[in-house]
Amino acid sequence: MSESTDIYSLAIQRLTEYMNGKNIRKTPERFEILRIICHTQGIFSIDELQEVMEKKAKFQVSRVTLFNTLKLLEDASLVIKHTLTRAAHYECCITPHPMVCLVCQKCGMVRKLESSKIENWLSEQKCKQFIITQPVLYFHGLCRSCMVKNSIRNRKAKTKTKIQKK
Ligand SMILES: [Zn+2]
Repeated sequence: MSESTDIYSLAIQRLTEYMNGKNIRKTPERFEILRIICHTQGIFSIDELQEVMEKKAKFQVSRVTLFNTLKLLEDASLVIKHTLTRAAHYECCITPHPMVCLVCQKCGMVRKLESSKIENWLSEQKCKQFIITQPVLYFHGLCRSCMVKNSIRNRKAKTKTKIQKK
């Protein structure tokens, strides 16, 4: 059995217990969304999730259903919501592990940084009178494509002023 299958079995169990406790209806959509999320590596937006659902899983779901299900999974502590940019990003957190995220302040891209050194450092952090459930560190900055766009814009602005001076 693969690791994501193990995570999915654990996730089904936790979601079922949560919905039973709250008397929430168990729909096939909710479990299908959970399955896709458990097999998704890293951070994703609602748009990206919808694309995977439709293209790979051939499962049509509305944005409202996705949004409501993500909220439910968040309440059940199965998903963590990263509200860093204009669009919220989500991540499966059934087996949370320390990580570092790069956030582009211009386009809103969120990407995981592969750094075992920082991850190890994060995993060792302990706070008095505070339990860390999600050890995540965010680095804000500019992604490569935004950097390129910025330099093109700057070059154009420079040429414009040169032409105006002539
Ligand atoms: Zn960017």
